[in-house]
Amino acid sequence: MAEVRLENITKIYPGNEEYTVKETSLTIKDKEFIVLVGPSGCGKSTMLRMVAGLEEITSGELFIDNRVMNDVQPKDRDIAMVFQNYALYPHMTVAENISFSLRLKKVPKDVIDQKVKEVSSMLGLDELLERKPKAMSGGQRQRVALGRAIIREPKVFLMDEPLSNLDAKLRGQMRAEILKIHQNIQNTIIYVTHDQVEAMTMGDRIVILNDGIIQQVDTPTEVYNSPVNKFVAGFMGSPPMNFLSVKLEQDGEKLYLKGRGEDDFSMLVNDSKITDKLKSLIGRDIDLGIRPEDIYDESNLKSKDMKDSCIMSKVDIVEPLGAELYVHLKVGKNLMIGRVAANVSVKSGDSFKAFIDPQKIYIFHPDTEERISL
Ligand code: ADP
Repeated sequence: MAEVRLENITKIYPGNEEYTVKETSLTIKDKEFIVLVGPSGCGKSTMLRMVAGLEEITSGELFIDNRVMNDVQPKDRDIAMVFQNYALYPHMTVAENISFSLRLKKVPKDVIDQKVKEVSSMLGLDELLERKPKAMSGGQRQRVALGRAIIREPKVFLMDEPLSNLDAKLRGQMRAEILKIHQNIQNTIIYVTHDQVEAMTMGDRIVILNDGIIQQVDTPTEVYNSPVNKFVAGFMGSPPMNFLSVKLEQDGEKLYLKGRGEDDFSMLVNDSKITDKLKSLIGRDIDLGIRPEDIYDESNLKSKDMKDSCIMSKVDIVEPLGAELYVHLKVGKNLMIGRVAANVSVKSGDSFKAFIDPQKIYIFHPDTEERISL
């Protein structure tokens, strides 16, 4: 059992007038893999370091299994932390690095040997146990760092950007390995990253932070499909969601999203999407969000009602990715990226009718940037 609970936690660094983490409450369930994600400087590491006990909590309470931890020493919190720079002991072999904490605790040698065996086989390090860190690749060293943490059998794992020193291919492999480890050992993991792909692929739930404030806590699918505001919508997804400033206009019973100025287009809002909240914004400029994968070329329309949601644009550049194309589009002064099928024939300078799936549009409140659910 290891539930981690933050209650109204604030962090203000000495000499810093601004808060780094503001009145944050969050419950991380037993055995959950939770990912803290957000842009650099938003307070992710600070939050993790407060859980670890490496950073003092300015106000609020931290609980692990219902016990207040604010004043408990890091070594007594039953946690293990894995960092970006794995800092192994260079003069020790892999086996010695992994077993270090148990040797310090004077655990009997046969028990240590058994545990090193279990951990090294879980991490695919059996052949490397007698090697020194300098004779290993970055990915292997990172696995040793994980092994060092796993062998302690902590209640909670804290991981601070553990993969960001690795190249893209290794990062992909290690993502899968960490997920497998989690399945095996079933511990609570709090994982910090600035990389939304890591967050989407690894987390049971994702916590999106901005400026020290939690924006949304939910499963990857929910966060992607139902972002609570423009920040979350723009942060999760690659290429990111496109935003266009449009005017909401009424014509009889119908509502239209109209391009402003040069980007002259008119999109019918599907009747099923008209809500009172949306009606309250008639006549105002609002932010329209469209994910790149919800843009279609005329030859690939999914449904008939897409005919009424077309934005005229000009192709700026085309990025062929094999299975699909990223088409960079100019809509007046705005830029938009569409992810279209590889068989669509487009080139730079072409006019492009960007058909939008009307079921998939997002609208954000012009003042609060909250998403208006449609
Ligand atoms: P992240 O992990 O999201 O990149 P951090 O938690 O490292 O963000 O930092 C958040 C903010 O707190 C930053 O603006 C940073 O400058 C500030 N900060 C971090 N550590 C300290 C410190 N020891 N003293 C003062 N300010 C700090």
